[in-house]
Amino acid sequence: GEPVISARDVRVWYGTTRGAIRAVDGVSFDLAPGETLGLVGESGCGKSTLGRGLMGLLPQGAKRDGEVWFKGREILGMKAKDNYRLRGHELGMIFQEPLTRLNPLMRISDHFEESIKQHDPGATKDAIRARALEALRLMGIPPTRYRSYPHEFSGGMRQRLMIALALVLRPSFVVADEPTTALDVLVEAQIVQILNDLRRNFHTSLLLITHNVGIVAEACDRVAVMYAGRIVEQGRVTDVFENPQHPYTRELLRSTISLNTTGLNFIPGSPPDLVDPPDGCRFHPRCPDAMAVCATKNPVTLDRVGGGRVECWLVGPHEQIPPGGTQPLK
Ligand code: ATP
Ligand code: SF4
Ligand code: MG
Repeated sequence: GEPVISARDVRVWYGTTRGAIRAVDGVSFDLAPGETLGLVGESGCGKSTLGRGLMGLLPQGAKRDGEVWFKGREILGMKAKDNYRLRGHELGMIFQEPLTRLNPLMRISDHFEESIKQHDPGATKDAIRARALEALRLMGIPPTRYRSYPHEFSGGMRQRLMIALALVLRPSFVVADEPTTALDVLVEAQIVQILNDLRRNFHTSLLLITHNVGIVAEACDRVAVMYAGRIVEQGRVTDVFENPQHPYTRELLRSTISLNTTGLNFIPGSPPDLVDPPDGCRFHPRCPDAMAVCATKNPVTLDRVGGGRVECWLVGPHEQIPPGGTQPLK
């Protein structure tokens, strides 16, 4: 059906004394109702910047360009006031560190009250309580904890609390930025289960940012692989993971698998400086398959066989590679 979110050529950059950090540099994707898109990639490739950009939560001084369509409205260029109204109500965000987002002096009940009243000023205490208890119940938090303070919860419970707070307003689109990174494996599995239930029950669309490829395999319909500010490959999780076409996707999957069995095996080298990224394909200095063309021309974005998209000269279009361009790059 109609996508809930359509991002078109989204760009975000931060001004610094060294020059502009192009953290997101031309990203496009669609997300259908109830669909979960996993966003993976190494540290510093722009995942959080993209997630915050979609929510209108960028720090002062960050610049952005492109379009984000949400239910027929363009929200990237929206006034802060209108964006604020949408946020929470229609758009939700779940952050990595729950403690920094919860006020230690406020009871859980106060957090719910504040959040609901921002978007529904006339809500009565009873109505707020009913909605909050329902959200807590869905997160497996007993109603007896409604008057507790944040520090009285375990890390996993606090994270579920954050999810409950983000979801009490029933947003249609939620960005979850590494919601499980700080948690142990059991709690992590539980959160993934909860996120899965949510989309089934409420048709919430989710952008799930994570370092954990295993979580993507378990909880996501589609995956987008980000490198140096661009989505280099995206498609259905089964297609992309069983048949990665971009060397970065392949290396990322390989390093994750060996991480679990034989210890550390990261992709050699590191992601580029986004103030001055390499010419051509940004992955070329680290790519085991790099060809001459890769050092000079940015690859064209193509449809993947079996759906999705990929940008890599190995895939094509071969007629656009200049003579000699397929020589291995030394
Ligand atoms: P991680 O996996 O470590 O969370 P990420 O993929 O979320 O990384 P971002 O946090 O989006 O990456 O950062 C992308 C780039 O933008 C990095 O080079 C980072 O240093 C830079 N950056 C992020 N936030 C700011 C900021 N407020 N001001 C300046 N530069 C920033
Ligand atoms: Fe490697 Fe070239 Fe493909 Fe980039 S375009 S990933 S350098 S083969
Ligand atoms: Mg991040």
